[in-house]
Amino acid sequence: MNPSRQEAAPHTPCPLYRKCGGCQLQNMDYPRQLHWKQEQVQRLLGRFCKAQPIIGMEHPYHYRNKVQAAFAWDKRRNIVSGVYQASTHRVVPVESCMTEDETADRIMATIRGLMKGFHMTPYDEVTGRGFLRHVLVRRGFATNQVMVVMVTGTPVFPAKNNFCRALRQAHPEVTTIVQNINDRYTSMVLGEREKVLWGPGYIEDVLCSCTFRISPRSFYQINPVQTEILYRTAIDFAGLTGKETVLDAYCGVGTIGLAAAKQGAGRVIGVELNRDAVRDAKANAKASGITNAQFLCADAGEFMVDLAQSGETVDVVFMDPPRAGSDEAFLSSLCRLSPKRVVYISCNPETQARDLRYLTAHGWKVQALQPVDMFPHTNHIETVVLLSKLNTKQHIEVELNLDELDLTAAESKATYEEIREYVLEHTGLKVSHLYIAQVKQKYGIIERENYNKPKSENSRQPKCPPEKEAAITEALKHFGMI
Ligand code: SAH
Repeated sequence: MNPSRQEAAPHTPCPLYRKCGGCQLQNMDYPRQLHWKQEQVQRLLGRFCKAQPIIGMEHPYHYRNKVQAAFAWDKRRNIVSGVYQASTHRVVPVESCMTEDETADRIMATIRGLMKGFHMTPYDEVTGRGFLRHVLVRRGFATNQVMVVMVTGTPVFPAKNNFCRALRQAHPEVTTIVQNINDRYTSMVLGEREKVLWGPGYIEDVLCSCTFRISPRSFYQINPVQTEILYRTAIDFAGLTGKETVLDAYCGVGTIGLAAAKQGAGRVIGVELNRDAVRDAKANAKASGITNAQFLCADAGEFMVDLAQSGETVDVVFMDPPRAGSDEAFLSSLCRLSPKRVVYISCNPETQARDLRYLTAHGWKVQALQPVDMFPHTNHIETVVLLSKLNTKQHIEVELNLDELDLTAAESKATYEEIREYVLEHTGLKVSHLYIAQVKQKYGIIERENYNKPKSENSRQPKCPPEKEAAITEALKHFGMI
């Protein structure tokens, strides 16, 4: 999309800009925000691949389908709801917000108004007294179904039927009301226990022609308009022909895997840690008439280790880990599993860069990089990366692990792949990771003795010829590593 056609930020900035802290980029108009994000992506990930222009939103307002508010007394004993002021437990009252769904904001206002009549008090984080801690509202943008989750500090919900009736009368669009009990001293919004007060206890939404059921605690992308674009990009990258076995790792309610099944994956396996999300994923497959998908509740890393050991073959892996990124168990097993393509979706380019360093050091190449703006006005960045294997015949495997990749300043300047590409471009010579490791060792960049031992103890190690050594030395100089 042409950035100049995109909307500029509103002329009057949000009055809560500083106190709320949610929209960090609000001082920039929207085209500038996109430009800023593009630069960040290029800075953090550009070493692996040139980033495609970021895909922004046509109307970057009220895009959030999930709104959460904390409840408290203000100084004049009025009930307020909103967000916590950064690093405090003080609630900043929010009446409306340019990123939040407007229906959700209206429901919050109604609940504030109903509370006095129902003798509901806001929960006090310090004393542990009071009733209502948070309210969570989720709306399916495609279905218009609305879920209200009342997070309470106690299990007893006085006059709950009358309260539900009053809320539904004011908002006939509400399709389910759930009580979530959170009586712990914690900054987590939702507790473990739930009671459905009215309706089915979940809502549905439609994305990429699939119906998704969403429970209160399941992860679901908060910007459905951009999520369609994100998933379509990911599925395009996967290049499905109808035969592939696809793994959807960190699958949440199965969104990517099921969308891929609709687009022609032969078979889908989804893995996810959250039990509720797995239950939703199974129901979603059924609701969308998809019979070639299975979902498992497990740690993605542990599951990958088992999968790699079982000798199973997988053609495409989608991975969409949380902000912390993936882990070594997952990445090393991914390398063993050796699918044709990996599509890595990330909401944190810093941990993605770390994981890409591991993968590129193990013979993977980043083929494409597409940023998608999922969170306008905030500094959050989402990217989709396509990786495929380099020609393994030309590649000698070197033992590396994440620990070793936690490198010294000198070594961290360029990856093995970048050195290899530089040498190829400037001299036409193909050099292996092993040769690079040998030269690095010579210059004292690598200190570990067993750093470049080949996997098999018996195999003889080829020694870097002088011509290639000179070329690698030149590359190390170019990257400022020696
Ligand atoms: N792909 C989904 C969800 C992405 S969010 C979507 O687009 O909607 C990341 C998901 O990873 C969450 O659902 C979270 O519960 C799950 N998760 C976090 N740690 C995990 C782990 N170690 N193993 C498997 N899943 C994990």
